[in-house]
Amino acid sequence: MDKTFKLALGSIVVGLVVLGLKYYAFHITGSVALYSDALESIINVATAIAASFAVRLAAVPPDANHPYGHHKAEYLSAVLEGALVIVAALSIFREAYLGWITPKPIDAPFEGLLINGMASAINAVWFWILLRYGRRWRSPALVADARHLWTDVVSSLGVILGVALVPLTGWLQLDAILAALVAVNILWSGWRLMRESIGGLMDETAPEATLARVREVISQHAEGALEAHDLRTRHAGRMVFLEFHLVVPGSMTVSESHALCDRIEAALREGIEDIVVNIHVEPEEKAKHPGGVPVL
Ligand code: ZN
Ligand code: ZN
Repeated sequence: MDKTFKLALGSIVVGLVVLGLKYYAFHITGSVALYSDALESIINVATAIAASFAVRLAAVPPDANHPYGHHKAEYLSAVLEGALVIVAALSIFREAYLGWITPKPIDAPFEGLLINGMASAINAVWFWILLRYGRRWRSPALVADARHLWTDVVSSLGVILGVALVPLTGWLQLDAILAALVAVNILWSGWRLMRESIGGLMDETAPEATLARVREVISQHAEGALEAHDLRTRHAGRMVFLEFHLVVPGSMTVSESHALCDRIEAALREGIEDIVVNIHVEPEEKAKHPGGVPVL
């Protein structure tokens, strides 16, 4: 079983445990704020299931239908996660409104808060694991999952503090206000998440650090060539796609220039993980020094 997929399955199990605990905390207290916190966990489980399919699909090798691979499946899962977060926020607003017009006292507040606190501690530990491996494996789906989990932990802490104030102050409507604040926070994180994934879907160029490394490797391994220009990159999940023009003396044979390209490609693959390279060879009259990568 793929390592990313294993982690995604872990998210589903953790999500179910946290959902159970948070729902139980709501059940014994009747608090709208704790209800909103539990409802948000349902979204976590749904998105964890979507992410586990996405990472599995992203790992499928290129085929006749998808010759560039299936890496963008991870962005689809992140977009879906953003959309579900918005749905969750809207349903919490509804509950908050009902709690505002008919406020009720909170039963067993401290037992409820303790159970919700345990669930949040589990989420915090899982957030840290997801972020670490998501970054290490450059998986947008895992990083998106982790970021989302972090907004959960922060909003849960706010809810715990606020719900503790309800019996202390006797201000019952604070419960509904907290639920609405949770919804605003969730909505904000959902929006940010979707914006980021859309950037990936729109073929944004590779990060500046990768581009600098690409230029460095080309200029060090293109002995015999005159110039490289028109570098273009895009990225999909952890894959980087690179294409550029390589200017060589017009007298160079096809075999020689092909061997040169193979050398550059091998060096790039060694220097940059998960890169796919495509080189277009041109004779010297196509050189355009300004903007080209000079070759050593
Ligand atoms: Zn050219
Ligand atoms: Zn070849």
